[in-house]
Amino acid sequence: MEEIKGFDLINLQEIPIEETSLDFVPKAFDDYLGQKDLKEKLKIYTQAAKMRKEPLDHMLLFGPPGLGKTTLSQIMASVMEVNIKICCGPLLERTGDLVAILSGLEPRSILFIDEIHRMPTVVEEILYNAMEHFKIDVIIGQGAGAKSITLPVSPFTLIGATTKAGMISAPLRTRFGITERLDFYEPEDLAKIIKQSSKFLQFSITDEAALKIGICSRGTPRIAKKLLRRVRDYVQVQNKSSIDIQETEKALEFLGIDKNGLSTIDNLLLQQIIEKFNGGPVGLETLASIIGEDKDTIEDVYEPYLLRLGYLEKTPRGRQIPSKMQTKLKQKFVGQISLL
Ligand code: ADP
Repeated sequence: MEEIKGFDLINLQEIPIEETSLDFVPKAFDDYLGQKDLKEKLKIYTQAAKMRKEPLDHMLLFGPPGLGKTTLSQIMASVMEVNIKICCGPLLERTGDLVAILSGLEPRSILFIDEIHRMPTVVEEILYNAMEHFKIDVIIGQGAGAKSITLPVSPFTLIGATTKAGMISAPLRTRFGITERLDFYEPEDLAKIIKQSSKFLQFSITDEAALKIGICSRGTPRIAKKLLRRVRDYVQVQNKSSIDIQETEKALEFLGIDKNGLSTIDNLLLQQIIEKFNGGPVGLETLASIIGEDKDTIEDVYEPYLLRLGYLEKTPRGRQIPSKMQTKLKQKFVGQISLL
């Protein structure tokens, strides 16, 4: 959930969502729209674990950012009536950070680690014994006097979220009993999410406008909700009380989003591959430095959607635009001045 990301790990607290959120946050499976198959499976796993009064099996959720991994984990915690602690892999810098969190867990609670692939190896190693035997090995003291002691932790569930399943080490991956992938959402599902949010924001939106925003949201609920808020701003300053298709189209154009849902950065990226590399292949790092974006951002945020729509393909020599797309894009970019 975007509101909680990056909160201070050392003072890890459970922040009541109601107090932090200006937008609708699903708190039950029924409010979590789309991802039907995954939801059905998770409903069964959570219900069964609750009936047995056991923690849920450790779970690895993977998929691009903003698809609802954190939200799903919060729903599972709520269904199981257990606490959830949320933290982020790269912020767990020292083993002590993780030991403090693990030793404070209540029985059956959920520990959600976002970007688990970015956790330092020494910290990750603490998790192995904790996940498998609910024990942690801690070194006390320094030098010759140092000794290792084993501490028990309450039976808990680790939910690891990652955008890069391939970067999870084998020892960690094999300790997850459940591995699930979140797919991009269809525009119709995103339109439902947009309607749900607009109801919460007390702003009316036509079905056609909601679908239009859905189409332009790169298959991602977080983007759909952000776009809705921006379109609402645009409409509100014009003293209009509802969002219709005409205003939505104008607002999207104003925001630099084209009719296929591609942003200025997407178009810039494609334009550079066409103009500077004749369609590719080009290495990710070169591409990143040319368009002035971070390599990980291109890989995690922009690329998955471009790959999905067939604008881009990955080859051993770098990224390239398939030849059929090149023709289409050359026509689109002809006469347009490159922003770089
Ligand atoms: P992730 O953890 O995968 O980055 P989040 O769980 O933080 O994604 O979700 C991003 C935003 O989208 C949140 O505001 C969340 O409430 C909303 N969201 C995600 N999935 C859904 C869904 N299926 N239905 C309704 N809202 C959703």
